[in-house]
Amino acid sequence: MAIRDIHILGSPVLRRRAEEIAAVDDEVRALIEDLYDTMAAAGGIGLAANQVGVARRVAVINVEEQTFAMINPRIVSAEGREGKEEGCLSIPDAYAEVTRPERIVLEALNETGESFRIEAGALVARAVQHELDHLDGVLFIDHLTPLKRQLLVSRWKKEHRNEPLTRTPQPEAPKASA
Ligand SMILES: [Zn+2]
Repeated sequence: MAIRDIHILGSPVLRRRAEEIAAVDDEVRALIEDLYDTMAAAGGIGLAANQVGVARRVAVINVEEQTFAMINPRIVSAEGREGKEEGCLSIPDAYAEVTRPERIVLEALNETGESFRIEAGALVARAVQHELDHLDGVLFIDHLTPLKRQLLVSRWKKEHRNEPLTRTPQPEAPKASA
């Protein structure tokens, strides 16, 4: 178990489509443990493998008593629409309202390779969708209008100029990030 560095906007792995997990083995379980440790160290509510530099379809969630890992996750149904402020551990200090389906049904494999299905709403649904986006190389800023996105990214780049593309998790995030 280890806390890994988190990849930050500009790191190419955040834009890669992560690969399906063919077999849930000890290596995958070790990756999940590291994701849990890293998410906890960063005070996050979710973390995808891309964010620690591993382009494989694995992510973890920790929202309001609901803690789970998801391997090869997919959303089988979605309904409603809700706009809420979102933040990302890979784009520190940037927040914006993102509109997403309000309720989802998720299917994935767990740490032992068994399939599970959960219905989620509110923040769990949002965190799951945010992590699935990461596994497809998508970031929350991609959901903004071009103008809002441009403003956010140019301001962020100015504030984070000359910073490395990975950083040690810091638990100072003032708002829920994933
Ligand atoms: Zn994120």
